[in-house]
Amino acid sequence: MIYRFLRGFNEIYPVAVLFAFIAAFFVAFAFTVIYPLVPIILIISSVFLVVIARVTFLVLRHFERGIALASLRNGKCPACATACDVLRVGESRVQECPSCRRIFDEVGAPYVPQERVEDANKSVSLEHASPEGARVAADGSGGV
Ligand SMILES: [Zn+2]
Repeated sequence: MIYRFLRGFNEIYPVAVLFAFIAAFFVAFAFTVIYPLVPIILIISSVFLVVIARVTFLVLRHFERGIALASLRNGKCPACATACDVLRVGESRVQECPSCRRIFDEVGAPYVPQERVEDANKSVSLEHASPEGARVAADGSGGV
């Protein structure tokens, strides 16, 4: 439950911060003629706000992956607590949930095969399946 909330929040967080900074730009732009102290303060504080936004994101992502790893070590999906299938993609092990189809890599991060150049054209083999997942191993390159 808390994992799903954190992951959803972390997915919208970068876009939300971007739009907040764009909104701050328009506020500063509107105040340039009315009251020039506001844009000056916003420009100076924006440097610190970028650092705060970045550190907040790193802390939230750290918690998200910590929760995911704690659950994955028990062989359970962090989002729905179903037993995960362990797949081997090249040299790396990924865990796939047979219920909600989420895939996690070794550090607990969501695994997106298209974003891994080193895993392109690597074969995917099922290392061991979850007890309740009576699913045939997906074999081949683009399958997982
Ligand atoms: Zn799941």
